[in-house]
Amino acid sequence: MADEKGKLYLCATPIGNLGDVSARCLEVLRSVDLIAAEDTRRTLQLLNHFGITKALTSYHEHNKRTKGEYIIKLLNEGKNVAQVSDAGTPAISDPGEDLVRLCIENGIEVTSVPGPVAGITALILSGLPAGRYAFEGFLSVNKRHRRAHLDSLKNDRHTLIFYEAPHKLRTTLEDMRSVFGGSRRIAMARELTKLHEEIIRTTLDGAVSYYEEKTPRGEYVLVIEGASEEEETEENTDILLSVREHVDKLIESGLTQKDAIKAAAAERGVSKRDVYNEYHREVENDEL
Ligand code: SAM
Repeated sequence: MADEKGKLYLCATPIGNLGDVSARCLEVLRSVDLIAAEDTRRTLQLLNHFGITKALTSYHEHNKRTKGEYIIKLLNEGKNVAQVSDAGTPAISDPGEDLVRLCIENGIEVTSVPGPVAGITALILSGLPAGRYAFEGFLSVNKRHRRAHLDSLKNDRHTLIFYEAPHKLRTTLEDMRSVFGGSRRIAMARELTKLHEEIIRTTLDGAVSYYEEKTPRGEYVLVIEGASEEEETEENTDILLSVREHVDKLIESGLTQKDAIKAAAAERGVSKRDVYNEYHREVENDEL
C-alpha cells in the first residue's frame, strides 16, 4: 500500500571483529532504502567489506535534530531505514534513543537487529557477579560531575559497568579508588573481540599501580565489583545524619555544595530540591 509507513531497524555492528556481524544485520543493510550512520566513512568500510552498496546519510550527536526530522519524513513516506553507530549497539552510549523516541511519537514501527555490546561482553568476561549490574556509560570529563556520579554509586550493590577512553583511564582509576576504596575488584577489558583482546582482573589499588608502569592503549570497559553488604550498611548511617550534617560531610570530602546536595539527595532517595530546602533551613536555624 502506498500510504504504509516504513520501519526503523536498529542494527548492531561489530565492536572489533567483523566476523561478529550477524547474517540478519547484513540482510537488513542490503534491503533497506537508506542507512543512517554515526560516521558514514566508518560504515562504508563495513559495507565495502561485505560488498554492500547502499545510500548512506549521517546521523550523529550534532545533527540529530534536523537529520532526525528528515529520517522521520522518509519513514512516513514508506522508506525503510537502518540505523548504525560506529560500533556495537545503537543507543548504548551512542546516538539512537532520540530517533527511537521520534519514531514512537510518529507511530513508526521500530525493531532491532541485536548484536555486540562492549559493556555486556566485558561483564561476562569479568568474573564478577553478572546477575545484577548497572550500566553507567562514560563518566563526565568535568571533575566535579565525575566525582558526584561516582559518589552516588559508592554503596550500590550492582556490578558497575563504565566505558572509558585510554587518555582518561589513569585519572578515572584514581577517582574510582578514592571513592570505592583500593580493595574493590575491577576487570579492565580492552580491545574486545580484537587481536589484542585483554582482560586485566585486579583491585583498584592494583589497577592504579598497573598503569603507573604501563601506558593505557585501546578502548576500555571497566567492570567494578558492587558494594559489599557492610558498605551498603555504611550508607544507612549517613542517611541517619541530619541533612545539613550529611551535606557538610560530603563537602568535606571534596564536593562543591551543589554536588554535595545532589549526592545526598541520591543517597537519601529524595529530590535535590527537598535536600536544598532542608539544608538551607537547618543552616538558617543554626545561625539564629
Ligand atoms: N554502542 C557501543 C556498544 O554497544 O558498546 C558503545 C559505543 S561508545 C561511543 C564507545 C566505547 O565503548 C569505547 O570508548 C569503549 O569504552 C567501549 N568499547 C567499544 N568497543 C570496544 C572494544 N572492542 N573493547 C573495549 N571497549 C570497547
